[in-house]
Amino acid sequence: MAQTFPSLPPVPDHSALEREILAWWDEQGTFDKLREQNRGGERWSFIDGPITANNPMGVHHAWGRTLKDVFQRYKALRGFDQRYQNGFDCQGLWVEVEVEKSLGLNSKRDIEEYGLAEFAARCKERVAEYADVITEQDRRLGRWMDWDNDYHTFSDTNISYIWGFLKAVHERGWLYTGHRATEWCPRCGTSISQHELYAGEYKELEHPSLYVRFPLKEREDEALVVWTTTPWTLPANVAAAVKPDAEYGLREGQWRLAHEGEDYDRKVEGEELVGLEYAGPFDEAPAQDGIVHRVISWDEVVLDEGTGIVHIAPGAGQEDFELSRVHGLDVLVPIDESGRMLAGFGPAEGLSTDEAEDVIIEDLRRRELLVESGTITHRYPTCWRCGTPLVFRVVDDWFIACDEIRQPMLDANATVQWTPDFYSKRMDDWLRNMGDWNISRKRYFGLPLPLYPCDCGELNVIGSRAELEERATAGIDQLQELHRPWIDDVTIACSACGKDVHRIPEVGDAWLDAGIVPFSSLGWNNPEWIEHGYATGAAKGLSGADLPDHEYWESWFPADWISEMREQIRLWFYSISFMSMTLIGKTPYKAVLTYEKLLDEHGREMHRSWGNAISADEALDSMGADVMRWLFCEANPGQNIKFGYGPAHEVKRRLLTLWNSVKFFVDYANVSEDGEAGELEPLDRWLESRVEQLVAEMTDAYERFWTPDLIASFESFVDDLSNWYIRRSRRRFWDGDAAALVTLRHALLKSLVVIAPVMPFLAEHLWRVLRSEGGPESIFLVAWPEQGERDEQLLAEVAETRRVVDLGRQARATSQLPLRQPLRRLVVQGAELSRQHEHEIREELRVKEVEFGEVEATELRVKPNLPLLGPKLGKELGAVRAALEAGDFEQVNGGFRAAGHDLSENEVLVERVGREGWAVAHGDGLTVALDTTLDAELEVEKRVLDLIHELNAMRRDAGLELTDRIVVTLPQGASDLLEHADWIKDEVLAVEIRTDGGSEVPQIAKA
Ligand SMILES: [Zn+2]
Ligand SMILES: [Zn+2]
Repeated sequence: MAQTFPSLPPVPDHSALEREILAWWDEQGTFDKLREQNRGGERWSFIDGPITANNPMGVHHAWGRTLKDVFQRYKALRGFDQRYQNGFDCQGLWVEVEVEKSLGLNSKRDIEEYGLAEFAARCKERVAEYADVITEQDRRLGRWMDWDNDYHTFSDTNISYIWGFLKAVHERGWLYTGHRATEWCPRCGTSISQHELYAGEYKELEHPSLYVRFPLKEREDEALVVWTTTPWTLPANVAAAVKPDAEYGLREGQWRLAHEGEDYDRKVEGEELVGLEYAGPFDEAPAQDGIVHRVISWDEVVLDEGTGIVHIAPGAGQEDFELSRVHGLDVLVPIDESGRMLAGFGPAEGLSTDEAEDVIIEDLRRRELLVESGTITHRYPTCWRCGTPLVFRVVDDWFIACDEIRQPMLDANATVQWTPDFYSKRMDDWLRNMGDWNISRKRYFGLPLPLYPCDCGELNVIGSRAELEERATAGIDQLQELHRPWIDDVTIACSACGKDVHRIPEVGDAWLDAGIVPFSSLGWNNPEWIEHGYATGAAKGLSGADLPDHEYWESWFPADWISEMREQIRLWFYSISFMSMTLIGKTPYKAVLTYEKLLDEHGREMHRSWGNAISADEALDSMGADVMRWLFCEANPGQNIKFGYGPAHEVKRRLLTLWNSVKFFVDYANVSEDGEAGELEPLDRWLESRVEQLVAEMTDAYERFWTPDLIASFESFVDDLSNWYIRRSRRRFWDGDAAALVTLRHALLKSLVVIAPVMPFLAEHLWRVLRSEGGPESIFLVAWPEQGERDEQLLAEVAETRRVVDLGRQARATSQLPLRQPLRRLVVQGAELSRQHEHEIREELRVKEVEFGEVEATELRVKPNLPLLGPKLGKELGAVRAALEAGDFEQVNGGFRAAGHDLSENEVLVERVGREGWAVAHGDGLTVALDTTLDAELEVEKRVLDLIHELNAMRRDAGLELTDRIVVTLPQGASDLLEHADWIKDEVLAVEIRTDGGSEVPQIAKA
């Protein structure tokens, strides 16, 4: 060949190679060239779900970001014009919690003392810092995005769009304040919404388990006994619930659920207890003033734990709160927002719910109300951000009613293509069960809710920043961005009565921030394009993102495809759907790829404290990005991935086959002489078809967004290329056969293009090694291969031939014969297509003849199925077993007859094995039998092959070039092998073989 190819080391250094490619892409502006090349082409719209710019990326993020990049690169190779805008999630509780930690702030009071303006500044700094870190990690992973034009959800533009959404919600009458019992994080001082609750962990926690007497009024010496695990709720008790149709018994003055077979002084149905009044456990506490405690009826009382009598505190429990509405009960909220007992609620005033436990238990004991106390370990919900155990509080929160949007969202979901498809049903389940959307958080650095309720009853909702400016009566001059504290100083005039009104202090749920992105970042309803118009407010200076115009939105909405992890079903997928269905009645995405969780390689969750966590930086450094990407693509997205150094090592090992194939080509091409490629041989034509088959399979897998098939198809192709084409063509490469070289190079180049989206670095590197001078400089500037013709018949023949050879190897392995031992005969049954390739089978399996026909060299081996036959035959079993073992049986009616007994098919275990002198293997309707009898000729040939192997190893050890010729000196004892001198010379590139050296072992010398 005229061209000289850069030579390759024996193994790739993935990390070094990747850094070099990254620098080269930067230098060449490859990504810009690609975008330029595709500009104006057909559009394929991808919308990036934002990553929280709050911590470095984790390896689980790298999974999703790999999938996004794989499909964007694929579509780019196909010429699609695309958007590459990355998104950062920038505000809300998660950022606040990290900033609090770094500043050593522990409560909301601490934040307020620190100052909201300063706190907001620290939050912004943190976002800027980690946005940079993540960008760097993403680049290193190989992700091509429009860096520096990211969208930041805390920009004024984004916030303004959300305000517009909230106004639309209000106009539909869906916005309301709910006085509700809600899970509450006492550390974060805010309620936890339904989707946040699912994001938190349930931990095994130990709590007190108390049995407490509630003495009945007007029934001296009788008391109800209730069970509770939350002593702090007792001072808020207002009722006790019984199941009306359950039976209760009185014993030693205590009423509890009656158990069968036990003696009681009296037994009644729950119904009869309803309405009785009792003395509450903390009647002296001021908060209990005027409360009448009574027994109520409740069908849902759980009977298999506790006493069947349930203590009801509507201010501290969800079901309790619901009951308060039915029965008109008082609602006493015993704790403040940091989870401390409020004044007036008994002896534990000012203490946290944990600290209150002992004080309350002691107090009950002293007053002889405590029947029994112990502990219980149970699964208990914790805060998803800070891990603090949650409590219940009744608070006022803002909600969006979702009943009207539920069905339209379900209908829209039916049009979405989900991968894997069962996630569609998960989304449906979520939508059917979703409660109203709790959108308010009693926090600081978040979306300011634009709600201005007036005493006159009017709820003013501001729909945009412009509207705020227009309606402001004070404070607008100091409004540097749409965040607290500045926004709190702006007042507006009530639209109904004209009075000045203030904003509510609450901020919004972070999923509002991310959910508006398909509108805010694409310029929905924006009359004209504004340069840098998206990078406003807190995002100013962090990004150069434009605010496009409405026409742009129309051309990129909805997204053709999005991809995020499975949890996003109730988070981002849900919020973008909710907002889009509300605003325009259309789904914002046509197709979704979603995926499960990332675990360590042994299937355990990764935790820093368990020492099994791997950081993304660490993984990128030691595995390399391509290997990580390979692992991610190989994983079935519908199952948890097991990620770690073990699997990464395995991938590196497998990638070597490709590397070695390219290296093989380079090594031979560089020493071959210039020459015209002659006629293609059948094997060349097969490889050409095989590449076309690969292109078809890969295209199909990309179109289905199914990455495991990409890996499976590619690996099977590389196996065929290396272990069939190259193996079978070795001799031609030695001879510098131009047709073989051209065919191999062409196959390698084409296969690199179709795998490039999965492992961009290695593909680019090898492409640059193999590419033609004057061709595209980067593999990513090459067009996706056109679908060429392929010879299906030939593909099927070779596939079957390879199966025959594989089975032949299996048979050989069972015979324990060495691989280099030639054999006389192979019988093949059930592989008619491989008949054309008899000579290949002969060579691969080192057999002299291949016969196609029925394999008779097997015999049945039948054993008793003991669990069935044992009981049936009893003492006779021994005789039957012996007969079967001796082969003394007949086949009758699909069963067997031995020692005078008929045995049905399932009473025996049947196996087909090779007869003496034969090795047999079968699978998928194909059977091969290898004649293992040796003779003198076969034995000599074995020695020749051993010698060739030994001499070639010596060549390598001596560091000889591929083209170097040698002189071989054999020991006298090997002189009978000279009969095969030509064969040996040919295989080891020898010019002469001598036996006159008198040495004990063969020797070689450069000729
Ligand atoms: Zn918390
Ligand atoms: Zn008013």
